[in-house]
Amino acid sequence: MSPERTCVGCRARAPQRQLVRLVVQGGSLILGRNQAGRGAWIHPAVACLQLAERKSAVGRALKFSGSLDTSELRSHLEVLERGVSAL
Ligand SMILES: [Zn+2]
Repeated sequence: MSPERTCVGCRARAPQRQLVRLVVQGGSLILGRNQAGRGAWIHPAVACLQLAERKSAVGRALKFSGSLDTSELRSHLEVLERGVSAL
């Protein structure tokens, strides 16, 4: 059985392989499956990122106070979404 994680956006539980891992690096939120330190899991979907941002869930999950730059992550997720729908 594969480990399950909770998406910080929609709060649904999902197998880890269906989610991507977020880490904070220099005040920016980035994808970092193998980065050391505290991580949060989210569906590779812009909708889930928007939910997480609205609830400030990412900062809370990562114990990061202050404003997070999510612009780079958002464009990554947009690419991932397009990739999935192109399959
Ligand atoms: Zn989600």
